[in-house]
Amino acid sequence: MMDAALDKTLRDAAALFRRSRYAVALTGAGLSAESGIPTYRGTGGVWTRFGEPTIDGWDLFCQDPEAWWKLSIEHRVGGSEFSAAIDRAVPNAAHYAMAELEQMGRLAHVITQNIDNLQNVAGSRHVTEIHGNRAKARCMSCGLRYRLESIDLATLPPHCAECGGVLKNDVVMFGEPIPADALEECYRQAFRADLFLVVGTSAVVYPAAEFPLMAKRRGAPLIEINPEETALSDLADVIIRGPAAVTVPALVELLLIP
Ligand code: NAD
Ligand code: ZN
Repeated sequence: MMDAALDKTLRDAAALFRRSRYAVALTGAGLSAESGIPTYRGTGGVWTRFGEPTIDGWDLFCQDPEAWWKLSIEHRVGGSEFSAAIDRAVPNAAHYAMAELEQMGRLAHVITQNIDNLQNVAGSRHVTEIHGNRAKARCMSCGLRYRLESIDLATLPPHCAECGGVLKNDVVMFGEPIPADALEECYRQAFRADLFLVVGTSAVVYPAAEFPLMAKRRGAPLIEINPEETALSDLADVIIRGPAAVTVPALVELLLIP
């Protein structure tokens, strides 16, 4: 049962979707929280509990890609709490509802900060992964992406079959520039959006948090779905204060009613 206030904000959001012709979403760790993957920030977040990690990932990779790959392979065998959670995770009702919004023609594109690949698994087709995808590797020279299981790890670091460049995990490391193709796509989408849906992100990581602001400045209404207040809440036109796995499917239900 939805309470009356939540029900009202869902109906307001559905009304905005009915008026929109090109809705774009930004999703974050909260979308996958109910798949058992901890967020970084917010109640119960990994960083909230253990503090922020050091920010030298990119430097370490550039200094010694071979050592980085060795560590990463060992790590994958042992596994940290966070990567074990991603390995186990399957899409939740929110991921499927996001895919359904796209299939219904209500959502044109998703920009996700998540690296867990779950929106693709759930069936979303128009997804830009601004922080990369944990299941892929990317060529540092030509930008080509490979599925991790398809690359040859016999010699480290692995190299690009097309151009011979060094491959790294596709996940954007601290200090690493966002890949240009992903960044350009995000700006294109933010510029086209006439409605912006923000789901499960604390909206403090830039440039990702900039896209809803860009759309808003051009007059696109902003809908926020998050159980907690965020850096964007003050600017949101409609705020749905509830967990994504409940509220995104509820939004789909409303939009299915003619
Ligand atoms: P964040 O950890 O900064 O914020 C998570 C947000 O989700 C918080 O605002 C929290 O209130 C909200 N939230 C918690 N449970 C929710 C639920 N059930 N439904 C809806 N919202 C919920 O995450 P972020 O904003 O995505 O940014 C952090 C960075 O962390 C991203 O760059 C991303 O790459 C990385 N990250 C990815 C994953 C993943 O791939 N699943 C998980 C953790 C962090
Ligand atoms: Zn290459």
